[in-house]
Order: sequence, then structure tokens, then C-alpha cells
Amino acid sequence: MTDRTLHIIGGGLAGCEAAWQAANTGARVVLHEMRPVRGTDAHATDKLAELVCSNSFRSDDWEYNAVGLLHAEMRRMGSLIMACADACQTPAGGALAVDREGFAQAVTARIEAHPAITVERGEVTAIPADWRQVIIATGPLTSPDLASAILKLTGEDVLSFFDAIAPIVHFDTIDMDVAWKQSRYDKQGPAGDNAAYVNCPMNAAQYEAFIDAVLAGPKSEFKNWEHVPYFDGCLPLEVMAERGRETPRHGPMKPVGLTNPHQPGEKPHAVVQLRQDNALGTLWNIVGFQTKLKHAAQTEVFRMIPGLEKAVFARLGGLHRNTFINSPKVLDGQLRLITDPRLRFAGQITGVEGYVESAAIGLMAGRMAAADLAEQAFPPPPPTTALGALLGHITGGHLDAGARSFQPMNINYGLLPPMDPPKRDDDGRRFQRGERGRAKKKLMSQRSLADLDAWAVGN
Ligand SMILES: Cc1cc2nc3c(=O)[nH]c(=O)nc-3n(C[C@H](O)[C@H](O)[C@H](O)COP(=O)(O)OP(=O)(O)OC[C@H]3O[C@@H](n4cnc5c(N)ncnc54)[C@H](O)[C@@H]3O)c2cc1C
Repeated sequence: MTDRTLHIIGGGLAGCEAAWQAANTGARVVLHEMRPVRGTDAHATDKLAELVCSNSFRSDDWEYNAVGLLHAEMRRMGSLIMACADACQTPAGGALAVDREGFAQAVTARIEAHPAITVERGEVTAIPADWRQVIIATGPLTSPDLASAILKLTGEDVLSFFDAIAPIVHFDTIDMDVAWKQSRYDKQGPAGDNAAYVNCPMNAAQYEAFIDAVLAGPKSEFKNWEHVPYFDGCLPLEVMAERGRETPRHGPMKPVGLTNPHQPGEKPHAVVQLRQDNALGTLWNIVGFQTKLKHAAQTEVFRMIPGLEKAVFARLGGLHRNTFINSPKVLDGQLRLITDPRLRFAGQITGVEGYVESAAIGLMAGRMAAADLAEQAFPPPPPTTALGALLGHITGGHLDAGARSFQPMNINYGLLPPMDPPKRDDDGRRFQRGERGRAKKKLMSQRSLADLDAWAVGN
């Protein structure tokens, strides 16, 4: 008889959502969770879906916030995580915050009561050969033995334990009257493009003021379990500046090979470069600007960069321990390992960031695995939906798939195909500053839910 068991490793946000979705669409599920037999450095209980830090699922505003939109889509897909979050809400203004213990208790109770789900407590250190369908959802704190096994399976050199994140800016908030596009020495890229970077010029006074601000800004400290070495290739900006005020100017901010067309006679003292981060060209990361500056300080300091005075950040920089695979390279569009398609990945280990995003990938992985077991197809959600955009980011929507530049990310509007809202509102009034951006988000959110509803018929 065909084995229709789906083994899910990791009873966190992603694993629980995957188990729920798969069990509700016909699969028999064994959910393997190592706690309390073996703990992690951040979890404190034996409950499934324990929130290790904040108790917030962030904004619940589906019209104007991308994570709020993701909430809405997940609710429409019958998400367990969203149902339990809604049932355990605590007051948090426009955010969806939850009673931490009540939430974990609710998820645990519903998983344990599901007739098609069995929970097995114990660490999985390797994937048994006779498991036909597997979802690995062991999160950022995957136990070391399993991490080594995954490393071997993916054929990669490193399973990134070190998450160096540079800030990412929405392209339409860069002032291109100050910045310009050019590659250093006009070097031709593989795509035949010699203007692949956005460049922001600094004169000597601006550079000195910027370095002062970087050095003075408040920094986050590593947690005791985050004693990770700095890799020379990704030193935090402030560490570089501490080594010498000129060091960044000889590193990521070097001004050579670039001519500012807005001021061709003036040689910039330093140049900050941004590199395209997604295939749509809506998001650009600041090259070499991984940092442990606190988030509020980052916004202030990085807006000192000429051309970025009004920048809106899709993600701010950071540096912390993490475990994630190079998904665009090693996974197919159905979240399966290309070299061993009985294995799927879900949650933070796939390179998404955050409770909600991790659960969202769990939702899709669960549906996909159940469809595989039933020998049916599960077409991915359209790229215009938050679910589809997130899937696209980790399985190929990212530029330069397979490159070392793949970095975890929260959901944001920059991952969805852009829309051009009208210049006037329904009453013919010209939009004031900021209003058009809001109108654009609303249009994109409405499109997402309409497209999700159309796709969901039959899925
Ligand atoms: C210290 C820290 C703070 C964070 N703070 C936030 C925050 O404030 N907000 C936010 O949105 N996100 C935060 N995150 C990210 C957060 O971990 C993820 O968003 C989310 O929990 C990931 O969900 P997941 O299901 O992928 O992993 P997890 O929720 O971590 O679940 C993975 C599960 O797998 C189990 N496991 C691991 N290895 C094995 C094994 N070999 N065998 C069996 N079981 C195993 C673990 O015990 C765990 O229960 C934080 C992460 C860390 C590490």
C-alpha cells in the first residue's frame, strides 16, 4: 500500500501550519518536535508554535500594509496560525498582538486534537530513507546534527549561520536628480547592462558627518548565543569605521570608476552604491551596509546619504545568527529540494523572516505536500498575491538566483509587481504628497485579494 504519511520536522509556526493544511486536505501527518527532549537557545517551553521574542504579528491593516495583506490571504486559506492569533488577541492598536502563552496553547491543543495528526517528541538528526514526503521546518535554531545533514543534502558549502543584512530601499523613494545609475568603470554585466548600480555621491564634509553619525549611533548587542565570528567579507559598517575613518571609503564607499552626470566636473569624495535586489527592480539594497545600528538610528543615519533623504526602507540592516538555505538555488517552485524532491522546506529556514511569513510558507508547503501525496497538482498562488510574492522571493523571483546575495526578508510591497495609480482621486482632486503612495498600496492589496480568490477556486 502507498505510504501517505507526511513527516514534518519542527513544530514551530511553519511546521504547525503545514501540518494543519496538509491534514485538512487529506494527508496523514506525523509532526516531529524535539522540545522538551532537546531545547534551543531561545525557546522556553514545550509548547508548539512558541513565539521566541515579540508577541506581535505586526500590522493587521490589509489595505495599506503588506503583512496585514498576508494576514488576510492566510485567513482566506483557513490558516491555523491566524485563527489562533485572532482568538488570542491583546490590545495593540493597528497591530495584531497575541497572548503568547494562550496562543501557543491554542495551537498545541488544536494540533493534538486533529485526528489526522500525530505529534512525536524527539530530535530528528537525519532524514530516514523510507520517509516519502517530508517537510523540514526546523527554523533559525535548527539543531546542529540536522543542520549538518541538511548541508550535505543541499550540496552547499555553508548553511548560513550568519545573517548579515544590509538595508533595502524602495526604488521609487530614491532621488534620481541626485543619484545616478552606473556600474563602476561602466563594466558590462552578464545581462549586458553597464549601469547596474544606483550611486549616491558624498563630498568630504558629508562623508565626515556620516562617519561621525555611524560611530555615534546606538548599536544592538549580540545575545549570548549569538557569538558568531565576523566574516571579513561582510564586516558591519560601524566595525569598518572603527578600524579607521577612511576604511569605508576604501571599501564599499570607494568613489573610483564613477562619474556623476549631475555634476560631471566634481569628483565625489565617496559613493554609496545600491544594487537591484529583486527582479521587478522595485527594491535596492545598500551595498556593504550590513550593520548593528539600532533600527531608529539606521533610518536617521542612512537618510544623511545624498539621494536617500526621503528613502523608505523595505528592510533595515542587521546581523544575527540564523540558519537558512540558499533557496533560489536549491529549491524548485514547489519548495522541493531539487536534488531530492521528497524533501520540502518551510518557514524561516527557507529565507523568509518573521512569524507570519514563516507560517505562510508552511501553509503553502503543507498544501503542496498533500497534493503530491494525492498525486494532484498544486499551482502556486499568483505573483500578485502576498503569498505568491513571498514564494517567488525564495524560489526564484530573486535576482541572480543562487548567488551568495540571497538574504532573508519580510513581506513588503516591493516583492509584488508594481501598479501605477491615477494622479487624481475619485473626485478628480490631485493627490497630495504621500497620498498617491497609499493609493498604490490599496490598489495592489485589492488586486491581491481578487487574484487570490480567483486562484483559490479549485485550490
Ligand atoms: C532569538 C530570536 C528572536 C526572534 N524574534 C522574532 C520576532 O520578534 N518577531 C518575528 O516575527 N520573528 C522573530 N524571530 C524569527 C522567528 O524565529 C521566526 O520568525 C519564526 O519562529 C520561524 O518559524 P519557524 O517555524 O520557521 O521556526 P521555529 O518557530 O523556530 O520552529 C522550529 C521548531 O523546530 C524545532 N526543531 C529544531 N531542530 C529540530 C530537530 N532536529 N528535530 C525536531 N525538531 C527540531 C524547534 O524546537 C522549533 O520548535 C526570532 C528568531 C530568533 C532566533
